[in-house]
Amino acid sequence: MQKGAILVLSGPSGAGKSTIINAASDEIGEYYFSISTTTREPRVGEENGVDYFFVSKESFEEDIKAENFLEYAEVHGNYYGTSLKPVRQALEEGKLVIFDIDVQGHRLVRAKMNDITTSAFITPPTLSELETRLRARCTDDESVIVNRVENAKDEILAVGEYDFRIINDSIEKATKDFIVLANAARLKEGQEDEEKFLKDWLG
Ligand code: 5GP
Repeated sequence: MQKGAILVLSGPSGAGKSTIINAASDEIGEYYFSISTTTREPRVGEENGVDYFFVSKESFEEDIKAENFLEYAEVHGNYYGTSLKPVRQALEEGKLVIFDIDVQGHRLVRAKMNDITTSAFITPPTLSELETRLRARCTDDESVIVNRVENAKDEILAVGEYDFRIINDSIEKATKDFIVLANAARLKEGQEDEEKFLKDWLG
């Protein structure tokens, strides 16, 4: 039986998702951050097993065949996926599992585990602010930035599919909103115990 809950975060690269999670991490209790597997090249400063598991296309495709992913998608021409096993284990341990996945991944998680899922779309206030931030972080070359901005224009159209929207205008405010959200997401923990809850409650 799964006792934990899921919090899905989506939003364009450069929205500040990982900064927000890190800033909030002392105030949201025990959680498991799902480290995705990807075929994209590591950025400067990224570590294998910390930011992502960086693998070859062949290895990723083997994992698809072996049905090792809870969900996967092609984003910006690379594969990204969530491994099923560690997520299942964290849920069985009753933890809040946090995903940083794209809109396609969110749809798949909703289809499979809607009852225990809460979601938020995190974004800078405007498209032009997003572009400014992507350039300022100097981790991607021009063609990659153009590609990410184009992708963001498509992704924003899915904003209505999320429970909440966090506008990352100020990191302090966005972090505060995120803390409220993470604690609320925990209220879905143990939802599958409903039958037992009712039986006990009615006495
Ligand atoms: P980046 O290359 O900037 O790290 O991530 C690009 C996009 O891929 C982001 O929107 C991020 O949320 C998404 N992403 C990262 N990991 C996963 C995953 O495991 N599954 C899916 N569907 N999307 C992911």
